[in-house]
Amino acid sequence: MANSKLTFYGGTGVVTGANFLLEIGAQQADGKPLKVLVDCGFVQGGSDSHTLNAKSFDYDPASIDILFVTHAHLDHVGKIPKLVKDGFKGVIYSTPPTRRLAQVILEDSARLLLRDANNDPKKVIYTEEDILSAMKLWKDIPYHENTEIGLGVSVYPKNAGHILGSAMYEFSRNGRKIVFTGDLGNSPDLLLPDTEKVTDANYMIMESVYGDRNHESKEDRKNKFIQIVKDNIARKGVLIIPAFSLERTQIVLYELDEMIEQKIIPPIPVFLDSPMAIRVTEIYKETLPEGFNDEIKREVASGEDLFDFPNLKDTLTTAESKSIIDTPNPKIIIAGSGMSNGGRVIHHEKNYLPDPNNTLLTMGYEAVGTLGRELVDGAKNVNIMGENVPVRARVENIQGYSGHKDSDHLIAFVGDTHETVEKVFCVMGEPKSSLSLVQRLRDYVGVNALMPKLGESVDINL
Ligand SMILES: [Zn+2]
Repeated sequence: MANSKLTFYGGTGVVTGANFLLEIGAQQADGKPLKVLVDCGFVQGGSDSHTLNAKSFDYDPASIDILFVTHAHLDHVGKIPKLVKDGFKGVIYSTPPTRRLAQVILEDSARLLLRDANNDPKKVIYTEEDILSAMKLWKDIPYHENTEIGLGVSVYPKNAGHILGSAMYEFSRNGRKIVFTGDLGNSPDLLLPDTEKVTDANYMIMESVYGDRNHESKEDRKNKFIQIVKDNIARKGVLIIPAFSLERTQIVLYELDEMIEQKIIPPIPVFLDSPMAIRVTEIYKETLPEGFNDEIKREVASGEDLFDFPNLKDTLTTAESKSIIDTPNPKIIIAGSGMSNGGRVIHHEKNYLPDPNNTLLTMGYEAVGTLGRELVDGAKNVNIMGENVPVRARVENIQGYSGHKDSDHLIAFVGDTHETVEKVFCVMGEPKSSLSLVQRLRDYVGVNALMPKLGESVDINL
């Protein structure tokens, strides 16, 4: 009996903008349904993303009872302050690290929104005050604890292994189960425990960023990274790494730490040139070892200083950032944003891309429409802050550092629940990726998979 309804308000046919509404008991003749949102993220990358993010919700925020947040990436949390500003008064649930990280991510986002609106607070999607209002509604829900949310529904968070604090949520009612995966980690991960298995889902709302591709092996990615760093030292160049502040930066720091400790490379100057990445790394350090994998726990117990090594400099202020240019080469600059669509990295790209001795290394998904994507696609000239910049530096990309499962691992993940699963909704991917995963799930796992349309509602038996 279908008595619940699921609507895809965002994050379908696109990677970003995750926003799903589950109305439990929606088809019941009596009583009010329980309205639960999962994620409320920004659309990122496209030229129309600001317009889409500023647009009113397609539902009444005041009618929503609860919001569950899978993890702190902006494409999953970006619109939360607007949801609150527009009338949401319910409860926001996430794991404790997600709550702390989300606040940092949202504060950075508010700062950028204000800058883009020429410091006119009336023109921004939300302000710092809206973030504070959201944080007041925010409650912690730890992994592996059942929470009753009414109408006989219980929620159980499992570790998604994607970034610190990332969770997938299992909603159970009447012996039936619907699972929202959020983003799924590229396990085994250097820092995090493996993605937990799901074996008894009836429905799955499944990420599909890499639905059509597999990553290079972990060994290959490490060797490639080492080679790029060594080459940069030999060329006396600047290695720019546009880094995602959350997780990727910490993995890069961890690997550089290891290279220096094992004397694979000398301790050349490394700049962490991103106030947000610096704050996020602090939260990682403060959270240690809780939420990390067993190897990290062992290293912490033996007194190792993770994410820190000689000649690593945090450049918090603009003045410190500008002075990086005075440090002789070779050097490494880790700066945001990861897709080069803003942040300090574009200043470094403007300075250093014209020199063939330098290298730009991207380490993950670069969305269509971003400078990062243009560079990865081989652009010979790019426009940075209105200036034509020739790209003579080497441009390298290591996909293996992705924080997402690749196609084969997404298939294996769904395969674990093939006996019970009735429908898999492939979301959070470009259409090519999502549709490729749909086809592969049908062919190899024999499940009913589909890519829902934006705004589409489906009946759910829950
Ligand atoms: Zn994510």
